[in-house]
Amino acid sequence: MTPNDLRTLLIDLATNLRWSWHHPTARLLASIPTARVDQHPLAAIRSLSEDDLKAVADDDVFCAELVDLHAELIDHITGAAQRHPDVVYYSPEFGISELVPQYSGGLGILAGDHLKAASDLGTSLGAVGLLYRRGFFRQDLVNGQQSERYEVYEPEHLGAIDTGIIVEVPMAGRIVDARVWRFAVGRVTLLALDTDVEANTPEDRAITDRLYSGDRRHRIEQEMVLGVGGARAIDAMGWKPQVHHLNEGHAGFLMLELLDRAIIGDGRRLDEARDAVRSTVMFTTHTPVPAGIDRFDRDLIAWYLAPWAERWDVPTEDVMALGCDPHAGTDVFNMAALCLTSADRANGVSQLHGEVSRELFADVHGGSLIGSVTNGVHARTWVSPELQETFDQVLGRRWDDGDPAAWERIEQLDDERITALRTATRHDLVDLIAERSGHTLHPDALVIGFARRFATYKRATLLLRHPERLAALLGDEERPIHFVFAGKAHPADEPGKALLAGVVAHGNTAEAHGRFTFIPDYDMGVARAMYHGCDVWLNTPVRPHEASGTSGEKAALNGALNCSIRDGWWAEMSDGHNGWDIPLAAPEQGFGDVANDARDDIESANTLAVLSEIAAVFHADGTGHPSAAWTSRMRHSWRTLGPLVTAGRMVAEYERDWYAPMINR
Ligand SMILES: *Cc1c(COP(=O)(O)O)cnc(C)c1O
Repeated sequence: MTPNDLRTLLIDLATNLRWSWHHPTARLLASIPTARVDQHPLAAIRSLSEDDLKAVADDDVFCAELVDLHAELIDHITGAAQRHPDVVYYSPEFGISELVPQYSGGLGILAGDHLKAASDLGTSLGAVGLLYRRGFFRQDLVNGQQSERYEVYEPEHLGAIDTGIIVEVPMAGRIVDARVWRFAVGRVTLLALDTDVEANTPEDRAITDRLYSGDRRHRIEQEMVLGVGGARAIDAMGWKPQVHHLNEGHAGFLMLELLDRAIIGDGRRLDEARDAVRSTVMFTTHTPVPAGIDRFDRDLIAWYLAPWAERWDVPTEDVMALGCDPHAGTDVFNMAALCLTSADRANGVSQLHGEVSRELFADVHGGSLIGSVTNGVHARTWVSPELQETFDQVLGRRWDDGDPAAWERIEQLDDERITALRTATRHDLVDLIAERSGHTLHPDALVIGFARRFATYKRATLLLRHPERLAALLGDEERPIHFVFAGKAHPADEPGKALLAGVVAHGNTAEAHGRFTFIPDYDMGVARAMYHGCDVWLNTPVRPHEASGTSGEKAALNGALNCSIRDGWWAEMSDGHNGWDIPLAAPEQGFGDVANDARDDIESANTLAVLSEIAAVFHADGTGHPSAAWTSRMRHSWRTLGPLVTAGRMVAEYERDWYAPMINR
């Protein structure tokens, strides 16, 4: 192979982000001599010298595998890439890989998993998001406190391809240009809008600079680019989707553009236009509390809506009314209300969240239309490669899309094999703990993980309310146990940052015995190492604030047992044996409100009691390995949860019960 051909094939393979879940491709790209685990494979290819290239081109084994994988990729995507999608999925963030840092947390990871599962299933789906050159912040610890830092990324270096399309986004009387980039996510095309183009003013160039970091005006302008710009980008691509799927309310301004086409294009009145576009829009809500919803003050939002009202020749009031929240009066514009009243159908992300949302939005027109689709996770992204290989052998290749018959075969996985796998999949976590905290993991320790945003309702410090009981657990030499924490607090969330500092400080106390570790700079890579290496996944939200949660699903696929408050996905999937429920305080002890000391004291004691029981089961055989009772629970957890927690199951459900009926109408 010539060095030039080699480079071309490598760039193709590294540009399609399928390497983030296709392990043979990932392994080949990782074997490029310049490859580094903390860099996008395109960076490795760019830094190959002419001599390096020649050397690799002479490596026949490498080249043969490259040719095979390249042909396989082309075969896999051919056809799909030329078809225009029936469904377009809008999200402000997409978590596809830690090497494409365009996400902040659960919402983005879910969106990334949705695209990957849609690609696997061959769903006719495309996607729209923003391109953030500074991504989300990186986290350092400085004197035990979170400190934030931003890096700058070149779109091409992340795998973005310039479509050559620029769309114009009307913005309070001016025009903002946005460049449309394209990412290939397997067979799915993700469009990403970027206002950092020369024609824009410096302020407008900064609209899409970072995720969730500006003031309210900045947020509105980002959402205008996502919604209005997104709809125009789709149009410029020639896509004619029959379904617009809004992942949370951030892209709700899409409605302005759709209404505009019905009013100006088809000559309808505003109310007729709403009825006309409704049948093409569906909305997934992710928050069970009003405070989680994007709301804008009247004076600010009016400035952005007035030009549309003028164009449609209606009072600004009428456009403001689209986002009217019956609870908050006319002083705020509520993005969820906008989406709910404009959507044909809406859903929450677990059964419990569906119920809570129907109550929360009971007064908004459409509240009764809210159903639920429980979130799932993309198995091939999150399950350790060693375990995937074993599952492929023992369960057959269909385990990843939720085939219950495949998971029945888990009984064939014997204790010895499970114990050997556990040792094999733990290495990355052992290294990460040593590198980033200096702690050493006891080889026999029961490892308990907790990683998520430091939002106050998730109660990261719940265990610390009874320090003497926690100290007893941590100091038990017979039954060693190790806690691992990770997570970022939103830069403006001072109470969240205080919780984080509390966790870090506890890790430094003598009572913690070096067995209570905080790993800084949480991202998809840290998360993966934790799912692969933890025995127990701990989840302590204030019920019912966790709309779904997905980290426990990823841990469960890797064989960890969940120990959780019955909330979100766990409320419907716990069967009393596939993990442990943390008993709730009685409702009169403070159901629902985030801050409640009496309730937290009780639920903290309950958590510690359950953890002590868990340690006893894990160490029951006294061998240093998980007991037979433990591995039997692991098999039960896999068999009952495996078919339910995958994004394959989730996207198939969206396709069958939501997309198809809208398309067929
Ligand atoms: C899964 C995941 C999340 C979401 O976790 P929750 O349990 O839903 O809070 C957030 N960040 C990363 C990096 C993840 O992998």
